[in-house]
Amino acid sequence: MPINPVDLSKELVRMNTINPPGREESCARHLGVLLESAGFRIRYHTYGDTRVSLLASIGGDAAKPPLCFTGHIDTVPLGAAPWMMFTFAADTDNGRLYGRGSSDMKCGVAALTVAALNSAKHLQGTPGITLVITAGEETGCEGAFHLYRDGALDRAGAVVVAEPTSNYPFVGHRGALWLKATTRGVTAHGSMPEKGVNAVYKAARAVAKLEAFRFENAPHPLMGQATLNVGTIHGGLNINSVPDRAEIAIDIRTVPNVNHAKLIETLAAQLGADVELENLMDLEAVYTDASDAWMQTVFEVMGKLLNEQPQPRVATYFTDAAPLSMAYGNPPTVILGPGEPQMAHQTDEYCDMQRIEVAVEAYEQLIRRWCSV
Ligand SMILES: [Zn+2]
Repeated sequence: MPINPVDLSKELVRMNTINPPGREESCARHLGVLLESAGFRIRYHTYGDTRVSLLASIGGDAAKPPLCFTGHIDTVPLGAAPWMMFTFAADTDNGRLYGRGSSDMKCGVAALTVAALNSAKHLQGTPGITLVITAGEETGCEGAFHLYRDGALDRAGAVVVAEPTSNYPFVGHRGALWLKATTRGVTAHGSMPEKGVNAVYKAARAVAKLEAFRFENAPHPLMGQATLNVGTIHGGLNINSVPDRAEIAIDIRTVPNVNHAKLIETLAAQLGADVELENLMDLEAVYTDASDAWMQTVFEVMGKLLNEQPQPRVATYFTDAAPLSMAYGNPPTVILGPGEPQMAHQTDEYCDMQRIEVAVEAYEQLIRRWCSV
């Protein structure tokens, strides 16, 4: 009996996996049981209390690596605004399935799982597929980084990231480099500042340099120029002391021709010896040229399903594709999923149910093309 992708979406939405704390285990195991019963080889990967990612594979061929589908099962918190719809009831109205994590991205995970289940019996003796269903994406791709660092990811020849795109194929996204800059001083009584060294003054000079910073690379044709934003600044303990420490949080969004290691070196040189830089998160940009043969296949499949020839476009957010690309050696990667990108992280989040069905069809076609079945 084939599993209905909307029903599976509802089951996943009803599981509260708000991150933090995540608690993705029951969701991962629910999917694992379904996939195992269809003949998939299953591995669970745990990195903390109830933080569980799921790896599932079927088929396999030495000559050609499998096609990878990936999605995360954690969600962001609900936010302060009240919801009109129940947040975990998975209620439907007017063709929409409501709930936290519906668009971002449990409907995408349900669609890729159902496509995998429907295709399973044809995939023995073919390159096959591998599913990477991650915990902890919303807090900086933690789950995927654990998989990468632990060597748990095997190989893949191309990657489909089922994040919300309204089923429009996006050819990449910018990278994210989050840095913490710390300045240090010497504390003294606020009435005698000459006896101390003020860490906030050092931080202020650093912030001025960060505001004036200009990227030297040429802008990317689709992603434009990299950006830098100072998100927070904290310094000092009270009004009547000279602060001996200040911290600045820097959010840099990069494009494919920005080398993160070189960028950190450049910033460190410009900020000078008064500023210590610490790397909080380092995700390279993901990009596949639309002329890539597999991306052409994706465009062809989606052109027919969307009744519109796709144009090369990029997503505004970052995804698990960044750590997966590192693990798999930068295979062609598309971001393609049924959720609505503008609903991600929003109050009264929903996913259009028709799009879930179209995503299943799209994924099945991509599997058939990859595995020649
Ligand atoms: Zn997401």
